[in-house]
Amino acid sequence: MNYHVLTLFPEMILQGLNTSITGRALEKGILSLEAINIRDFSENKHNKVDDYPYGGGAGMVMAAGPVYRAYEHTVDSIKKSCLNDNMEKKPRVIYLTPQGKVFHQTIAEELAKEEDLIFLCGHYEGIDERVLEMIVTDYISIGDYVLTGGELPAMVMIDAISRLIPGVLNNDVSAEFESLQDNLLEYPQYTRPEEFMGKGVPEVLLSGHHGNIDKWRREQSIIRTAKNRPDLLEKANLSKDEKKILEN
Ligand code: SAM
Repeated sequence: MNYHVLTLFPEMILQGLNTSITGRALEKGILSLEAINIRDFSENKHNKVDDYPYGGGAGMVMAAGPVYRAYEHTVDSIKKSCLNDNMEKKPRVIYLTPQGKVFHQTIAEELAKEEDLIFLCGHYEGIDERVLEMIVTDYISIGDYVLTGGELPAMVMIDAISRLIPGVLNNDVSAEFESLQDNLLEYPQYTRPEEFMGKGVPEVLLSGHHGNIDKWRREQSIIRTAKNRPDLLEKANLSKDEKKILEN
C-alpha cells in the first residue's frame, strides 16, 4: 500500500506515522508514505495558499490552484512509479471532512484493497469547492466533531487501514477477531498475573477447554455490545440461542 498525503503540515504526518507498528511496516517496505506539502505548489511569492471566502464570513479558505497542482504532481509520480505509464484507474482521493461519510471498519477493509491512496487534508474553513469537485472520490469524516485540520483524521484512517494489510501486524490472527467484526465488540481480555489486587481471571479462561472459551467469549461479546453499542447489535448475525442471552 502506498499512501500519499496532501497537507500543509507534512512533518505532522511523517512524525506521527513513522513510529510504532506503522513505522516498522514502513521500514520493512510493506507500506510507503509520502507527505506532499501543498505550500510547495503555491505560485504566490509569499507561498500563500489561502484567501478570503467569496461572499464574506469568518476565516480563510484554501485556494484551488495549489491543491490541484499538488494533486497532479502526485498522480504523475504514481504513474512514473508504475511499470508502464498506463495506470488502469486513477487512485482514490479521500478528502477528510466533517461533512463526509463517517469512517467505519468496513470502509477501512474496502480501502485496504487499493494499491495507492491519496489523502487530502484541509485547514482553516476548508478547501475551495471547485477543486474538490474535480479530484475527490471519497468524502470521509472521523466523527461528529470539528478538528482544526485533516492531518489527524488522515493518520487515524491510515492506521486503521494499515493494520489490515498482510504483514503489518506481527500476528495476522489478531486482526481477525476484533471489535466491530460481525458488528460485535470484542470480549474482555486478561493477561498475567492470575490475580491482580484481589481480582481473578474468569475460570473458563484457565480451563484450557477451547470450545468453552470460544462460547464464553462470544457471549461476552454479545453482552458487551448490547450494553455499549446496542445500535451495532441490530446488524449482528445472532443465532436463536444467542438472542436468548440478551433476554436474561
Ligand atoms: N468549515 C468546515 C465545515 O464546517 O465543514 C470545517 C473546516 S475544519 C475547521 C478544517 C479541516 O479539518 C477540514 O477541511 C477537514 O480537512 C478537517 N476536519 C475537521 N474535522 C474533521 C472530521 N471530523 N473528520 C475529518 N476531517 C475533519
